Amino acid sequence: MAKKNVVITGGAGFIGSHLTGRFLAEGFNVTVIDNLITGNAKNLQHLMNNPSLRYIQQDVSKPIEVKEDIHFILHFASPASPLDYLNFPIQTLKVGSLGTHNALGLAKAKKAAFLLASTSEVYGDPLVHPQKETYWGNVNPVGPRGVYDEAKRFAEAITMAYFNVHKVNVKIVRIFNTYGPRMRINDGRAIPAFISQALAGESLTVFGDGSQTRSFCYVDDLVAGIEKLLFSNLNEPVNIGNPNEMTILEMAQTILRMTGSKSKIDYRPLPQDDPKVRQPDITKAKTKLGWEPKILLEDGLKSTIKYFRENLADFVPASKTSASSK
Ligand code: UDP
Repeated sequence: MAKKNVVITGGAGFIGSHLTGRFLAEGFNVTVIDNLITGNAKNLQHLMNNPSLRYIQQDVSKPIEVKEDIHFILHFASPASPLDYLNFPIQTLKVGSLGTHNALGLAKAKKAAFLLASTSEVYGDPLVHPQKETYWGNVNPVGPRGVYDEAKRFAEAITMAYFNVHKVNVKIVRIFNTYGPRMRINDGRAIPAFISQALAGESLTVFGDGSQTRSFCYVDDLVAGIEKLLFSNLNEPVNIGNPNEMTILEMAQTILRMTGSKSKIDYRPLPQDDPKVRQPDITKAKTKLGWEPKILLEDGLKSTIKYFRENLADFVPASKTSASSK
């Protein structure tokens, strides 16, 4: 049987590169489209000799042309860490709106199934806890996180419109905090920040008093959930994440213990609109996809710390220069 073709926008990013590896391993042809503003071609280096992988360097906010048939489109292109979308606010809005429109247009033209990478940020600073898919959220549209949150909320709306109007077979995954190898060491998120600080013997920068909570999912679990969703018949948002909720201070202390670091904790001001709590309700994923996370935090952190130890030295910071090219 002929191989099926998958397009992954943002395939050179953290989650995108794990998806690319998984679909190649399962015998798909994979076309990655990425402009590398926050992704890194190095994330695909171990796959570059695979003849089933094709890489196109392009901003998906500009029209996308692919000649071949496409069976699945996974739209993962977007800056995704708070620091990145503060650095690239307009690119974040454009890729969530224009980029999603272009990717949906491609799905419609090719009669491909379409999966949108959405986010727990659609729930904002939630007033309902844990967050179920039926919760509409509490988002400040003009706050610093608004560029990401509203872009993703628009992306969900246009995705559902393409389902209703054009009958595109759409899926929406709401991704909660995810970690693992190939996260950018200086992307500003808690886990990469704490591990790199702990390994370098620097103080761990805990924002606020560290009592805010998150629930962290290992990337392999997330990718398994995304694949189940893609091949399901669910045309609606589904939370994928690990409900194991902890405070940020607990995470900092766990990383100190696991790295054996003697670093201190340095309390810094809490960023504006930082959500106070976050935990996915994964009842829908469990009952309708038969998915739940399996990897224990200790095991996931072990492989993440190993990756950071091996890559700390040759890490190349993300280009800030492209911030001016709107
Ligand atoms: N955080 C922190 N120190 C850091 C980076 C993040 O204390 O160096 C906190 C941040 O304020 C938030 C939580 O860790 O409460 C998770 O932040 P992250 O940027 O990883 O992702 P978010 O869930 O906020 O999108």
